[in-house]
Amino acid sequence: MEQVNNSLASFIENLKRRNPGEPEFHQAVTEVAEKIWPFIEAHPKYQENRIFERLTEPDRVVLFRVTWTDDSGQVHVNKGYRIQFNGVIGPYKGGLRFHPSVNLGVLKFLAFEQILKNSLTTLPMGGGKGGSDFDPKGKSDSEVMRFCQSFMTELHRHIGPDVDVPAGDIGVGGREVGYLFGQYRRLANEFTGTMTGKGLEYGGSLIRPEATGYGTVYFAQNMLATRNQDLKGKVCTVSGSGNVAQYTAEKLIELGASVVSLSDSSGSVHMPDGLTTEQLEYVMDLKNVRRGRIREFADAFGLEFRAGKRPWDIKCDCAFPSATQNELEEEDARALLANGCFVVAEGANMPTTLAGTKLFEEAKILFGPGKAANAGGVAISGIEMTQNSMRLQWTREEVDNKLKEIMKNIHGKCVKYGQKDDYIDYVKGANVAGFVKVADAMLAFGVV
Ligand code: NDP
Repeated sequence: MEQVNNSLASFIENLKRRNPGEPEFHQAVTEVAEKIWPFIEAHPKYQENRIFERLTEPDRVVLFRVTWTDDSGQVHVNKGYRIQFNGVIGPYKGGLRFHPSVNLGVLKFLAFEQILKNSLTTLPMGGGKGGSDFDPKGKSDSEVMRFCQSFMTELHRHIGPDVDVPAGDIGVGGREVGYLFGQYRRLANEFTGTMTGKGLEYGGSLIRPEATGYGTVYFAQNMLATRNQDLKGKVCTVSGSGNVAQYTAEKLIELGASVVSLSDSSGSVHMPDGLTTEQLEYVMDLKNVRRGRIREFADAFGLEFRAGKRPWDIKCDCAFPSATQNELEEEDARALLANGCFVVAEGANMPTTLAGTKLFEEAKILFGPGKAANAGGVAISGIEMTQNSMRLQWTREEVDNKLKEIMKNIHGKCVKYGQKDDYIDYVKGANVAGFVKVADAMLAFGVV
């Protein structure tokens, strides 16, 4: 039976009961709820209108079958999803993830985070996310193409430039966006900015591939500036070796920091002397073109490969988790703190567990949660939509300057709502700042 929640505990209990078997969604909402609840209690209009309960129930979930044939003619069936979570401040916006771990709960957590993240960017974008349990690893280009075409054959009915604008995420990069957008254009018979992360030849924005990684580093710069420090000479661990990790590493090197690790799902590589530009070029070719494993990078340069290990036990000043959710657990957080790490900027979505986050908060380090730190990616997706609507393309410098400005503004909002006596609670700041705009729009719309 539906119940009114008079306390945070009863809210969480009811959320779990209403959404069984979705631990990542419970985790994402719990993190937000713990920070927002006192704010809601202090502002009864949100409580009386049950805004937070409404915010945790998606507008709609589209679930569909994706059938495709492999190169040998065998038929495969995957699940396809699009979660249109909240659209009160703009068209649904959020990436598509192709990974075997994708399920409803994972996508609901990502779409829920996306609502507040998109709100923080100040751009008019609602929150959505989608994807499939399809695994692109080991598939030929033509298999990936057939899968993408089949996926879009259903999805195209549910999206559009003013309705829902998907982008990439894990397993969905330039190649996949090309196939998906190509099929969308063919079916809809229109050329609109219905997907972002597009190639430069067909409506993409300069700096979009770099935006999440660069933006995360700009956010870290802003956090460090509150302690009169910068990234020059800082030792940085980075996890992952995909889109976000690559451009995080590139910007860190450019700013004079030393990148001492990269990883993938099979293990991590330690570069005690710091990643060089030549090595990064090798990693980009390995991961984006040859689609190989990070171990090959270690072997090619005589570096230590740590099979099955994350990089968090490597001594560093700053950590940039840039692979996936829950990749930084309590013991990892403990190891980072013991080694003197005092900056954690989340390039990935929810990479730190709730227990890890609590440790960072207790230690009062500079901890930038994903929905603030990695918001540069979706912000430049928003800028890609703007350019598509205006039918023009801004220069690299113009877009990079916008990215810097947006990350500075997001940082400023986190400080506004998260400043405590002796430290900045960026988790609270990001959650409250993101919430207020969406909540006020929901109030304006009445009970819908
Ligand atoms: P990519 O697919 O380009 O790269 C993902 C990287 O993470 C790969 O190195 C991959 O290794 C590793 N990885 C994936 N799953 C796991 C796992 N279960 N355990 C360990 N490592 C894993 O994705 P992105 O770089 O685009 O995304 C990385 C993170 O950043 C995600 O959390 C995503 O949601 C977030 N993000 C991405 C944005 C974007 O613009 N792309 C925007 C904002 C956030 P392997 O190759 O072995 O799978």
